[in-house]
Amino acid sequence: MNTEDIIQSLKLTSRLMELHNENPFKIKSLNNAVFKLDKVNLDLSNASLEELEKIDGIGKGIAQKIHELQTSGDLKELSQLRSITPVGVMDMLGIKGIGPKKVAQLWKELSIESTGELLYACHENRLIHLKGFGTKTQEAVKKAIEFKQASAGKFHYAAIEAYAFQLVVELKRKYNMPLVSLTGAIRRKCEILEQVDILIVSKDIIELPAIKDAPAIPVMIRICNEADFFSLLFETTATQEHLRLSGFKPGQAKSEDELYSRLGLQYVEPELREGLNEVELARENKLPKLIEVGDLKGILHNHSNYSDGVNSLREMALYCKELGYEYLGICDHSQSAFYANGMKPERVLEQHREIDVLNEELSPFRIFKGIESDILNDGSLDYPEELLRSFDFIVASVHSNLKMDLEKATARLIKAVENPHTTILGHPTSRLLLYREGYPIDHKKVIDACAANQVVMELNSHPYRLDIDWRWIQYCMEKGVKISINPDAHEKQGFHDMQYGVCVARKGMLTKEMCFNALSCVELENYFLQKKSLLLNPKS
Ligand SMILES: [Zn+2]
Ligand SMILES: [Zn+2]
Repeated sequence: MNTEDIIQSLKLTSRLMELHNENPFKIKSLNNAVFKLDKVNLDLSNASLEELEKIDGIGKGIAQKIHELQTSGDLKELSQLRSITPVGVMDMLGIKGIGPKKVAQLWKELSIESTGELLYACHENRLIHLKGFGTKTQEAVKKAIEFKQASAGKFHYAAIEAYAFQLVVELKRKYNMPLVSLTGAIRRKCEILEQVDILIVSKDIIELPAIKDAPAIPVMIRICNEADFFSLLFETTATQEHLRLSGFKPGQAKSEDELYSRLGLQYVEPELREGLNEVELARENKLPKLIEVGDLKGILHNHSNYSDGVNSLREMALYCKELGYEYLGICDHSQSAFYANGMKPERVLEQHREIDVLNEELSPFRIFKGIESDILNDGSLDYPEELLRSFDFIVASVHSNLKMDLEKATARLIKAVENPHTTILGHPTSRLLLYREGYPIDHKKVIDACAANQVVMELNSHPYRLDIDWRWIQYCMEKGVKISINPDAHEKQGFHDMQYGVCVARKGMLTKEMCFNALSCVELENYFLQKKSLLLNPKS
């Protein structure tokens, strides 16, 4: 079992204990332990019993449980709990918004034993009069189930990419075929995938190569003649709408470029072939040169162990430098984010002193002093004015009270954007792809406010977020709002998520010129200084 499996098993044990109404003190100490384990950077699969017992908040009993998981791959207590829980009830534990206690209530009081039955019970309004539920909860449960069902069979791009590339390599090697390509949604770098499509030139029947730990996504392999390859690649990559708008007709060609020029069109990058306005622009030869990973000069919005990150500030900086970047923006959580170990003012000053020392040592590499300031309920920022002034830049993000209607959420964000301290608006909808929809916002109004206040929009590159959605990037660019491709890394390996941001940024037609962190270190420093001088001398 790896670390993640061990933590998941402990989490499930605590949820099942709660479901079966076991000793609340035991549940609480297990939950606390899981919370701690999530934060320590320790390989649980190899840790010894002594090492485990040393971790703050992990008692002998829990260390023993981890040890049992390491050695037998299971936990007696967990399999005992599983054996007395119907499969459908286990499934109900995965519904967002209802905890184990409520699931137990539905099971015991309404005899609901599966997600399907629960959805039906919502349709019949049976949750309304249940103690602790009500119309609102029933509506939320119904929505959560529908969302869960719609997400079934869907995968994040990042969970599939490596597997898909490996398939292509294996097919080339096994059949000695040079013409093999990904096609379809994965070639368009879509953020959510339901299938991997591959096109291969072959006269024989092709077998899917066996790959260890392959994800459970269907793979569709299409076999063709060499002469038809590029035409089929064009046809299978694009959406139906792109084919219709471009006037595509199958025909033999030596490249996709040739096929586009036959249609009187500029070459359209695969990521863009969605059938939006790309064909219109290609016809006028107006498609811009898209951003590339190599254009990014630095990494803004990252966390260290000053708040909820795994690595130290120094480790983050050294790794960032090693990857060849010119600067790192450190944005630990602000004090209101107590659940994420948000920084009290003294900690901020301590961090600033450490940054000064590191900057001296690592020059010309530069660490910028940032903060991810919570946007409070009323749209104001954390910290008093004076402390806010001590930062080079501020990412403002919403982390609490996510249940807002469109009007309230929009007003809250706009107020934060209008705050003269705000440099970047962080993950504007707080969505988690396939897990949480995020609050609704009026994108146009928020982007217009960014334009009016010269605030940069974040494209949070965590593969679950990819927020702002790429479909709004063109509008941002039209309004002159720059996009910052931020990994929101909570450990140094998280820097590599920048590539997923670039994938969707390209879908949104982002150019190097409109990308905030394509600025060099000197350019960025000047930008921050200028923003600060405006703070001191606001235009009358
Ligand atoms: Zn955040
Ligand atoms: Zn963050």
